[in-house]
Amino acid sequence: MFEKIKNWIRARRPWMFNNSKIPVFLSHFAPIEIWAVSFGPFVACRGVMSKTTEKHEIIHFQQQLELLFLPQWILYGAFWLIGLVKYRNGRQAYYENPFEREAYDNERKHTYLQRRPFYNWVNYIRG
Ligand SMILES: [Zn+2]
Repeated sequence: MFEKIKNWIRARRPWMFNNSKIPVFLSHFAPIEIWAVSFGPFVACRGVMSKTTEKHEIIHFQQQLELLFLPQWILYGAFWLIGLVKYRNGRQAYYENPFEREAYDNERKHTYLQRRPFYNWVNYIRG
């Protein structure tokens, strides 16, 4: 029964939008050039999403879902700030964020979304 609920949650997908100006706009304030962004139930991509990008953004959607959105946004920001203090480099702070590390590490694994352990980003926190 519990496994059924888990699989139902894993199968949730965000609304995906291609050719969006949102990533272009957000890039003015971000330490990286944003290609696609996941926020709440929406994913916006400045071009046409590849399967890899799609999976990367769905992983972010699942991270938000399992933390009921707001706590994930706060944690994401907190990890980025900790990284900024630690590395003194916004770009590196982005790549060292455990939410990003999980997404980049698994975006090319075909069955990852079907079997992703909940809260797996915790395993990507650097000690
Ligand atoms: Zn990402």
